[in-house]
Amino acid sequence: MTGKTIIITGASSGIGEATAARFANEGANVVLAARRMDRLEELKNRIDGGAGSVAIKKTDVTSREQVQELAEFTIKEFGQIDVLFNNAGLMPLSLMKNTKVDEWDKMVDVNIKGVLNGLAAVLPHMLERNSGHILTTSSVAGHEINPGSAVYSGTKFAVRIIMEGLGKEVAESNVRTTSISPGAVQTELTETITDEEILFNMKKRGGSMTPLNSDDIAEAVFYAVNQPENVDVNEIIVRPANQG
Ligand code: NDP
Repeated sequence: MTGKTIIITGASSGIGEATAARFANEGANVVLAARRMDRLEELKNRIDGGAGSVAIKKTDVTSREQVQELAEFTIKEFGQIDVLFNNAGLMPLSLMKNTKVDEWDKMVDVNIKGVLNGLAAVLPHMLERNSGHILTTSSVAGHEINPGSAVYSGTKFAVRIIMEGLGKEVAESNVRTTSISPGAVQTELTETITDEEILFNMKKRGGSMTPLNSDDIAEAVFYAVNQPENVDVNEIIVRPANQG
């Protein structure tokens, strides 16, 4: 990965954080993007010092301007963007009857529009260079639906299909596209859930499954990116062996 530059959104915790550590360890230049700067600074201090450099940029992915600035910052610092990992996301699961409309809005804004903002910010640059790789974190919930995940699953189906469409459109270029669909991963993701019925049901079910670690997903991201330029890994599903 030496000489390659990757932008990671949602780098301040969980899957993004683990992926940043993995790519820094492989010698890539890594640009960490999220809103919590204290977390990004701590991560940079921890993983910097390899063959590549680590930079941080405060970014709210719901702001098209901020995501554009993130891309411009990266090109200024490192000359090019080789990989965008569109990973920032929220999962405030709830039952539709409880009409948590603000949470629905947030999921649409971060999980879908945030991904589109990322695509828009890097695609012209990658097409011009005829090189690049865009990865987006979808989910097993972007393949199947359960009570409480209607809107979250909707956002994850959406980004998976958007990535598929993008892949078809850029097929004649060397730009590569990948959807990563994790099953349950032990992260802070469930902390945004406020629906009491969902929390109760999760507690009741708890213990029946051993979730993955963020490193397991970082490994999948690395696998997709580390293929030869002519190999385009379009979709990866990784779930705990005992997840139903
Ligand atoms: P975390 O909660 O640990 O990480 C979420 C990340 O998203 C944080 O870094 C957070 O940073 C960032 N984020 C949230 N809102 C914004 C925003 N508006 N702008 C920029 N960054 C934002 O959860 P995970 O690591 O688990 O989640 C990463 C991705 O993986 C998500 O897309 C999630 O849907 C997906 N996923 C997770 C699974 C799991 O079981 N954990 C399973 C399947 C998919 P900050 O708050 O600092 O901005």
